[in-house]
Amino acid sequence: MAIPNVKRFRPFCPTCNDSFTVMAVLPREANVDAYLNDAVSRHDHKAFTDAKSAMNKVRVGQQKQQKKK
Ligand SMILES: [Zn+2]
Repeated sequence: MAIPNVKRFRPFCPTCNDSFTVMAVLPREANVDAYLNDAVSRHDHKAFTDAKSAMNKVRVGQQKQQKKK
């Protein structure tokens, strides 16, 4: 089974004020910094922020449920 040379990157998005995960297969000669700059510029800030706030809501909900018991 061939394992694709997928790498995980965690570029920081100043718009979201958080870092996000990018999975990419880059050629060996690729400029990683340029790729990550491009990834940040193409980042879907709204979807990322929505997903993050949805995750926080679940956490808060779980905490409230635990306190009730
Ligand atoms: Zn962003």
